[in-house]
Amino acid sequence: MINETSYALGANRSCIRDLFEYGCQRAAVVGRENVYDYSLGNPSIPSPPEVNETIRQVLSDTDSLAVHGYTSAVGDLATRQAIADDLNARYDAGVRASDLFIGCGAAPELVAVFRALAVPGAEILAIAPYFPEYKPFVEGTGATFRVVPPDVPGFQIDLERLEAMLTPNTQAVIVNSPNNPSGVVYTEETLQKLGAVLTRKGEEFGHPIYIVADEPYRELTYGCTAPFIPNIYPNTIVCYSYSKSLSLPGERIGYVYVPRQAADAGAVYAAVAGAARACGHVCAPSLWQKVIARCTHLRPDLESYDRNRRALYEGLTAMGYEMAKPDGAFYLFIKAPGGDAVRFSEKAKEKDLLLVPGDGFGCPGYFRICYCVSYEMIQKSLPVFEELIRG
Ligand code: PLP
Repeated sequence: MINETSYALGANRSCIRDLFEYGCQRAAVVGRENVYDYSLGNPSIPSPPEVNETIRQVLSDTDSLAVHGYTSAVGDLATRQAIADDLNARYDAGVRASDLFIGCGAAPELVAVFRALAVPGAEILAIAPYFPEYKPFVEGTGATFRVVPPDVPGFQIDLERLEAMLTPNTQAVIVNSPNNPSGVVYTEETLQKLGAVLTRKGEEFGHPIYIVADEPYRELTYGCTAPFIPNIYPNTIVCYSYSKSLSLPGERIGYVYVPRQAADAGAVYAAVAGAARACGHVCAPSLWQKVIARCTHLRPDLESYDRNRRALYEGLTAMGYEMAKPDGAFYLFIKAPGGDAVRFSEKAKEKDLLLVPGDGFGCPGYFRICYCVSYEMIQKSLPVFEELIRG
């Protein structure tokens, strides 16, 4: 016998992966340059050159056993201290090394945090549109996954509907800003109001409602900055990743930050470490911990993402496509002409234009494009978008 939920998750690939595989097959037939694949969020800017230089330095100036050996389960102290110093320099946040847990990227960090908070009957809320993996991550803990309807057309947070969904069982609200799939950055004002609602309802229920801030795109912003949520609402647990900011998605490195001012901070931190342990976490990759310790000051060079973003936003808006202003990450979330995003994406697919319908993100009627692609592909694809909107 096997576990049916696990089987279903393994046997049914995500629609994004399916589309990506389809794009690879089509590329073999019609040529890579004739497939306009906007499906997958794989960074398309190289890591800053200092990253590779640092790998070489670490290998040459650190004892080999130390480079490749186990580290403490919560991460090397030097790495945690370097990250704390960087956060304090940027956000004046009072972070200590002991508030940080070095994890293997946002995905397993989120799972550990959800498991840490999954008391019997727990409900965890996501705000549509949301990253589809949240659902299996949350449900895998036994908690109930609930979705706050989208705030159209700006894709901030519909606070009234969110408040109406809070119950004494609500343990956490997931906040992902800059957002996948909308590309929207939640404003300071939105986050202040969210914090006020959660504070009030937490007091009413007699227990804290945590924000789980999923922040792989924190540094990917254009003309604005993403507010540091623990400075707005102390009961915030941050899951950070270097996958996008340093273009290292295959290396699996990031951290969880439990602010000391969060309610029950010590217990939450221990429960995160314990939950990670129960999932088989031993330590984050040792070499990468040592590299990150020397690279916390590096920021991505966003020029090519920004050029892509502007070309698409301006080009598509001029054609009549509607979308929220994409100030962050590398996605646009666009209203499907005719209202049926699945049908629209099918029609686009016939022209080798690969778009992801918003249904999986909890937001039917929209489609996502990921602009981690070449500028040339964007230019070639724009006439296809034009053809589609003209019907
Ligand atoms: N959260 C969001 C919103 C994402 O878009 C992704 C990856 O695309 C992740 C989490 C997982 O990132 P990581 O590679 O750090 O596990």
